Amino acid sequence: MSTYARAPLAFERGEGSYLMTADGRRYLDFASGIAVTALGHNHPHLVAKLTEQVGKLWHTSNLFEIPGQAKLAERLVANSFADVAFFCNSGAEACEGSVKIARKYFAAKGQPEKWRVITFDGAFHGRTLAMLAAGNNKKYLDGFGTKADGFDHAPLNDLAALKAAIGPETCAIMLEPIQGEGGIRAIPTETLRAIRKLCDDHGLLLIMDEVQTGMGRTGKLFAHEWSGITPDIMALAKGLGGGFPMGAILATKDAASGIAPGTHGTTFGGNMLAMAAGNAVLDVMLAPGFFEDLQRRASMFKQQLAMLIDKYPTVLEEVRGQGFLLALKTKVPNGDLVTALQQQQMVSVSAADNTVRLLPSLLISEAELSEATAKLDAACAALASKSTGNAA
Ligand SMILES: *Cc1c(COP(=O)(O)O)cnc(C)c1O
Repeated sequence: MSTYARAPLAFERGEGSYLMTADGRRYLDFASGIAVTALGHNHPHLVAKLTEQVGKLWHTSNLFEIPGQAKLAERLVANSFADVAFFCNSGAEACEGSVKIARKYFAAKGQPEKWRVITFDGAFHGRTLAMLAAGNNKKYLDGFGTKADGFDHAPLNDLAALKAAIGPETCAIMLEPIQGEGGIRAIPTETLRAIRKLCDDHGLLLIMDEVQTGMGRTGKLFAHEWSGITPDIMALAKGLGGGFPMGAILATKDAASGIAPGTHGTTFGGNMLAMAAGNAVLDVMLAPGFFEDLQRRASMFKQQLAMLIDKYPTVLEEVRGQGFLLALKTKVPNGDLVTALQQQQMVSVSAADNTVRLLPSLLISEAELSEATAKLDAACAALASKSTGNAA
């Protein structure tokens, strides 16, 4: 179907931070399949673990016990606020399941009237009918019928408006700690803490959509760790399988207390291949020093980006984000920078608010980051000379 306006570019192989075309051109990968291949391409440990599982067993369904699933759940729980986990196949499914868990929590306590969820302007929670309503993006909702009920919306980073949106039917507030598709727009730490307190004061559940921010992307396993607060329910996907499609919902025991056998389910979710991938990703991320080293490289790179902002004031406006969830807000159309970077054999991802996301492998080396800075410099120089009409 003509769902996508694809770049006329196909890759055949990947190696670490690079993607290779069939005719041998090497591209520096700052898209990571939209924040998915967190450990780069062809990582030897992921390849070994997945290959080993491919020869054993792929899928049995959740009718039976899956030891790899119990293992991954225990490890995610041990390294987070959560007590329990549910595995699914995508980010939208993890977000939608999180909303179901929140609604069921109140229904099971005899308060089924509490079912509405407050989300924020600029949010993206996926493309199912309910998550389109949650995201409230007119462009995505258009033509798909009456918007699903059960969601209210508040402007980002406006506590008074958020408070005013809370009503007797509200069950939860759902947020991305840093909006991804929305243009790497962060909720400040103080605001996150205030939202947590608002939830506690009003008896609401806090759902965090860490589909893009989670799994190390911001320099900690989960982005909310930077704020010192925790959600009650969290949606994960993207980096979780290092490129294998999978999602998860983590929750406290209390928040998940409405869930009993038969209340939610999936055929594919949590199968052996996905669990082998997820456990292999955690093997690497939970190794001592992984996050410290990531943070060091990321802050080095952010300084290089800040220098580019100063050097190209007609092209770039600001750098946003944390860890390797970064974006450049551009003064030229953001697509122009994506195209100019592609001409330098570097791939990136555009986002809303005229931004270009820079999402490298979390394992990218200092030398590769310097190479990225050189490519960005060349791309900006080309755009700057175009915008002033001078020859480069
Ligand atoms: C990508 C994304 C989703 C949707 O994930 P899919 O796997 O495409 O369904 C949901 N929430 C956030 C924050 C995302 O970045």
